[in-house]
Amino acid sequence: MPAPLLPLPAVITAEDLVGKIKQYFRSKDLDLVWLAYEVAESAHRGQTRKSGEPYITHPLAVAYILASLRIDLPIVIAALLHDVPEDTAVTLEEIEKNFGADVASMIRGITKLGKLKYRGVERYIENLRKMFVAMAEDVRVMIIKFADRVHNLLTLEALEEEKRYRVALESLEIFAPIANRLGMGEFKGLLEDLSFPWVYPKEYERVKRLRDELLSGSEAVIESVLNRLREELTASGIRYLDIHGRKKQLYSFYQKLLKKEGETEKIYDIIALRIIVPDVSDCYAALGVLHKLWRPLKGRIKDYIAQPKPNGYQSLHTTVFCANGQVVEFQIRTLAMHQEAEYGVAAHWHYDEGGRRLPSRDIGWAKELARIQQEVLVSASALEELKVDFFRSRIFVFTPAGDVIDLPEDATPVDFAYHIHSEVGNTCTGTRVNDQLVGLDTLLKSGDVVEIITDKNRRGPSPDWLKIAKTHVARSHIKSGLKRSPLDGWIKLILPKRKRV
Ligand code: MN
Repeated sequence: MPAPLLPLPAVITAEDLVGKIKQYFRSKDLDLVWLAYEVAESAHRGQTRKSGEPYITHPLAVAYILASLRIDLPIVIAALLHDVPEDTAVTLEEIEKNFGADVASMIRGITKLGKLKYRGVERYIENLRKMFVAMAEDVRVMIIKFADRVHNLLTLEALEEEKRYRVALESLEIFAPIANRLGMGEFKGLLEDLSFPWVYPKEYERVKRLRDELLSGSEAVIESVLNRLREELTASGIRYLDIHGRKKQLYSFYQKLLKKEGETEKIYDIIALRIIVPDVSDCYAALGVLHKLWRPLKGRIKDYIAQPKPNGYQSLHTTVFCANGQVVEFQIRTLAMHQEAEYGVAAHWHYDEGGRRLPSRDIGWAKELARIQQEVLVSASALEELKVDFFRSRIFVFTPAGDVIDLPEDATPVDFAYHIHSEVGNTCTGTRVNDQLVGLDTLLKSGDVVEIITDKNRRGPSPDWLKIAKTHVARSHIKSGLKRSPLDGWIKLILPKRKRV
């Protein structure tokens, strides 16, 4: 079973990395790994990270993360060397001479991506374009880039606040969706949960508390459910390789809360129990056993084996009522499907427990994705569509000074005003969108230039604004502006209609 990638050891040495590789790579010949380490170490010698640590700790950690994924050697070697041509005197030509064209071309791809900056919508689209090109050329570049980003997020503390925010926001809004599109569930979850506290610190704390609250006491129930299930599977002669539970990741829980308007009883997968079985027929047999044991919830049985998700994800999902009304989601899949779900496109370069590469699986969808993107990138208008498709739920609007404010779809000038500053919101009396006076309930579109008209004598928000504000920031400011009761916390806001089941 794939082991969790985090936490990383506090100190990672070249020996640790080689030890990790030996767990899955049978060949004794790891000379190239040692050489790559030595080249990187001497090239980065004297350089330090913002934390003060020697620079080499970074490429070592990136390579270690990838080795934990049991990934093919050239990718690990490229990871060790990934910052060398950009930041040191050693050139790409020298790397190519020592490590061959394949490793050099991956590093070229990473260097091309360069040190991207998140600076408003123009650069944002430019970043996306660069990433699609890199991905279309060689998806391994993105795999290294994700590991690189995970380590950067882990060491974000050392950066200045503004840079910290930018890196986290970019990871959340660009890297995570791409990892998701590539079917790399593990990386998507890591990128999101590592960025979440830096981008939305308050929401992070609250969501974490809420999840813990909802989960408290469920461990015993889950344990008895699992025992009952194991018994029944064995009695029915159904083989299984592993059964485990996983907590919903925080950012994905947060997104669900927003979607379900805080009605936690409509979120069934805060804990999901996974059954990993040898083959597809066992999946359906296990589903039958589950439904014989416990009553399934209507409309919650999903056959992603017969109809995989667009990113290639396969599993059977069902939600059942277990003992004393506890509602539990089950995900049933084969080991191959499980590895695909965790690693996505990276599974193609992954070694199994026996130290062999997995049988070459169909990664047609990934190639197709890359091909479509390459075609789409030809025209700028198509690029807009791509952006819309990727970030369907966000819009970008401008202040009269040209600053980009990003808001959820259907946001109104009231949301915009509170995003500028709570005082701007509280003193807002009207708005001009693209130089036209319009109502405060106007739905904003990407590209709109929004100007807020304020009056210092205004005494606070209008209760009607609660009906037109879509963002939590705006709604919570409006609420506290309306009545400054200490009970008007955020939990109440996101749980407006909480009912008992
Ligand atoms: Mn790096």
